[in-house]
Amino acid sequence: MSISTQSIPAFLEAIKKDIEANADEVTALDQAIGDGDHVANLQRGLEALEKQAVELAEMDWSAALMKIGMTLMSTMGGASGSLYGSLFVAMGKKAKETEFDAQGFAEIFTAGVESVKARGKADLGEKTMLDTLIPAAQTLQDKADDDLAESIKAIKEAAYQGMLSTKDLLATKGRASFLGERARGHIDAGARTSQLMICAIADVILEAK
Ligand code: ADP
Ligand code: MG
Repeated sequence: MSISTQSIPAFLEAIKKDIEANADEVTALDQAIGDGDHVANLQRGLEALEKQAVELAEMDWSAALMKIGMTLMSTMGGASGSLYGSLFVAMGKKAKETEFDAQGFAEIFTAGVESVKARGKADLGEKTMLDTLIPAAQTLQDKADDDLAESIKAIKEAAYQGMLSTKDLLATKGRASFLGERARGHIDAGARTSQLMICAIADVILEAK
């Protein structure tokens, strides 16, 4: 199955709805171990993308992903603005030379996640969005040849478990790292929004199947 950029408006709408529905929770998470602005930063980026939705739907994947990344970088602010921005810009670069099928998308997403790792100088287990993104990318690769519905369910589960894993971790990157042991017991806000966005897209694909 190949998904076209015509699906971008539906993906954006689903993401916006799920982020909105969980906004208070995410704000509380970022208030507990950060400065509380994460959801507002993300919503600013999503609003900018919504205005570009029609234009994005007419582009090819490489150009669309790059534009999404640039828009997030220039509108979101915060650590997450440059991190989510580089995720999409790197995906766009990889998409230029990669077919957009299940295997190709696994490679494209992995390139995006590698770029977040490089930009944030962070890896798995540091209580950040990467604890959601890395297991999701790994599962995408492992399940690329499986039945679509099965692989999407596995990716949702990997993202969810990755998000939950941040609760008991110590933070070694970002604002939460200043809190030491006090960061334990709280889920990371960026891990939660990454999981919500992955699951929102996954559900749109599952429903369209
Ligand atoms: P800020 O921390 O500047 O207020 P946000 O609140 O928008 O920015 O985003 C915070 C989120 O960014 C964190 O919850 C975490 O998931 C992610 N983050 C912060 N620093 C890093 C990093 N070095 N590597 C990966 N992710 C990070
Ligand atoms: Mg913040």
